[in-house]
Amino acid sequence: MKSDLGTGFFELRGKQTIMDHQLVNDYISELFARQDQALIQAREDSPRRGLPAISIQPEEGRFLQLLVRLCGTKLALEIGTLGGYSGIWIARGLVEGGKLITLERETLHAEVAREHFALAGVMDQVDLRIGDAQAWLPRLKAEGPFDFVFIDADKPGYPAYFAWALENTRLGGVIAAHNALRGGKVAEAGEHDENTRIIRSLNLQAADDPRLISTIHPGGDGMLVAVKIA
Ligand code: SAH
Ligand code: MG
Repeated sequence: MKSDLGTGFFELRGKQTIMDHQLVNDYISELFARQDQALIQAREDSPRRGLPAISIQPEEGRFLQLLVRLCGTKLALEIGTLGGYSGIWIARGLVEGGKLITLERETLHAEVAREHFALAGVMDQVDLRIGDAQAWLPRLKAEGPFDFVFIDADKPGYPAYFAWALENTRLGGVIAAHNALRGGKVAEAGEHDENTRIIRSLNLQAADDPRLISTIHPGGDGMLVAVKIA
């Protein structure tokens, strides 16, 4: 009996060690991140229209939607709209009467995003603002505090965006930042490229900040998630 248990334990450990992350990711996506036509189009259409193919993954979208609703979001901010894919997920997580303000520097990206927001039926919930986030953020202070902030733009801007979010999020609000793993580079000691250095230092700062409970959710390219507790 004892040896049976022991064998089972080691078999289980063996299976865990060789878990295929892509396979389970697809499993999670198929179950929980089902996409309607608008989401499929927003994700596939953006690269066809000349936008970079850097939208978040479906399972990351679902995760954002979950976070947005978990903290009862009435007012959300996104920095980096691209073709609107993540914005649709966020908008669909808002509570009744909620609003998403999303910032985009490129007019072409904003135009494409607007079409996708319309297709997704979230136009009334989304307020798309064109321009550099660095210029918008000081002006947005007056519209806060925000319940939820999603950062997914230029990496050198991340420290400033995160600091702004920390100041302009209500207690119990959530800050999320995409690409927290940089394709795994943050964990590789030999990686010293500038953006990886910036993200690594932001991750460390979030981990150490007593005003936050934070972690990295490892789906997709990693989501730094922090809830403001003080
Ligand atoms: N969140 C999107 C992907 C964003 S990609 C999604 O998952 O669907 C990053 C976007 O941020 C690009 O569209 C880029 O033009 C925009 N961006 C980069 N730096 C910016 C800045 N300083 N201010 C505003 N937008 C910026
Ligand atoms: Mg990203």
